[in-house]
Amino acid sequence: MSDMSDMSDMSDMSDIIDTIDDATYDIIRVYLAQMQSAVKISEIICSHSEREELTGSDIICGLIYRLMIPMSDDEIQECMAAADEILEEDEEEEDDEIIQDVVNDVANDVVNDVVNDVVNDNGDWIKIKSNSCNCDICCQVRVTLLNYKNYEPQDILASRFNNSIKETCEKYKLLVN
Ligand SMILES: [Zn+2]
Repeated sequence: MSDMSDMSDMSDMSDIIDTIDDATYDIIRVYLAQMQSAVKISEIICSHSEREELTGSDIICGLIYRLMIPMSDDEIQECMAAADEILEEDEEEEDDEIIQDVVNDVANDVVNDVVNDVVNDNGDWIKIKSNSCNCDICCQVRVTLLNYKNYEPQDILASRFNNSIKETCEKYKLLVN
C-alpha cells in the first residue's frame, strides 16, 4: 500500500524551481555548452587516431582541452543550442548547491554513453594518451595534457568543470600525468 503523504514532496520541488535565479541557470547553461563542445573535441581526437571507438582517454583529453582553451564566440553560440535542449529535459535540477551534482551527472552520462565497456576490468589505473596527429587541435590537446598538472581554475565555472574531470578520472581510473 502506498502512502499518499509523499505527494507533499511534489510541491516542495516546485518551490525550489521558483527560487532558481538567472545567474545559476546561466552557469549551468554555459557548463553544458562546454560539455557538448568537449565531446566534439573528443570525437575529433578519436577520429584522428588509429582507434575506431571513443575511449575514456579521448573523453578526458576533450574535457581538459576545453577546460584550458576557451571556446570562441561562434562555438559558444553553436553549443548553447544543444545545452538548451538538455536543460529543457532537466528543469527540475537546479539551485546553487546542486550545480555540481548536475554537472557531475552530465559528465557521467556523457562518459557512460560513450565508454561503457572500454575501461579496465582489472582495476589498474590507465595513463591517458592522446594520439600522434599533427593537426592544430590534436597538437593543442597534447600541450594541455602536459600543462594540466599546473592548471588553476580562475572562476566558478572552470572550477566545476575541473572537479568533474577529476571525478571522472577517479571513477574510471584514468591518470592524466
Ligand atoms: Zn588531429
